[in-house]
Amino acid sequence: MKDIVCIYSGGMDSFTLVAQTLEEDRLHSCVSFDYGQRHATRACNDWGVRHTIVDLRAMSFVLKASALLGGIALPEGHSTDPAQKSTVVPNRNMIMLSIAVAHAAAHDCTEVRFGAHAGDREIYPDCRNEFVEALSLASRLGAGVAISAPYLDIDKVGILTIGFALNLDYTLAWTCYRGEGIACGRCGSCQERLSAFAAIGKQDPLAYVTRELIAKVTS
Ligand SMILES: [Zn+2]
Repeated sequence: MKDIVCIYSGGMDSFTLVAQTLEEDRLHSCVSFDYGQRHATRACNDWGVRHTIVDLRAMSFVLKASALLGGIALPEGHSTDPAQKSTVVPNRNMIMLSIAVAHAAAHDCTEVRFGAHAGDREIYPDCRNEFVEALSLASRLGAGVAISAPYLDIDKVGILTIGFALNLDYTLAWTCYRGEGIACGRCGSCQERLSAFAAIGKQDPLAYVTRELIAKVTS
């Protein structure tokens, strides 16, 4: 039964979640949000999955403070560093989830999934169990749609372990916050991704600026 809508940012967490939901044969469609964030949003064409892109640029008056939107220099380092607080967009997940819930209800789906994981909890209040449970209750009451974040209790290493078990091609997942042609390898998002690959003893197949530079210098 295809009864689940996934929020898909294009990053490795939601990429894995979409693939896993597809594998379970429960994926109805994906919703991506283009609100000026510099992440690339990957199309679902390869999978033949229905994909809706919601333009939130009209919401920039409430979403503009964050470094993710280009207002402040992006901090480098892990998401647990205090500097990463500038990547917080207040109430972002509630805005995106409520739109995805309405989309799900309109298509007779009963669940919305998003890719928040254990590493997000420290900095992002809207990536915590109590937030997901409370909003899921409200969404079930308001629209008959539950909200789940299946990776809330695992980290990126756990997510990659699931992805490799599904033979996923991680060149299709874009993680870098800087959103340029080649991933920077230095922002918090790149560093966490590279650490997760290192932790499971795999080479990240994505091209990185730093790796390209090293290759140039040593060739
Ligand atoms: Zn980066």
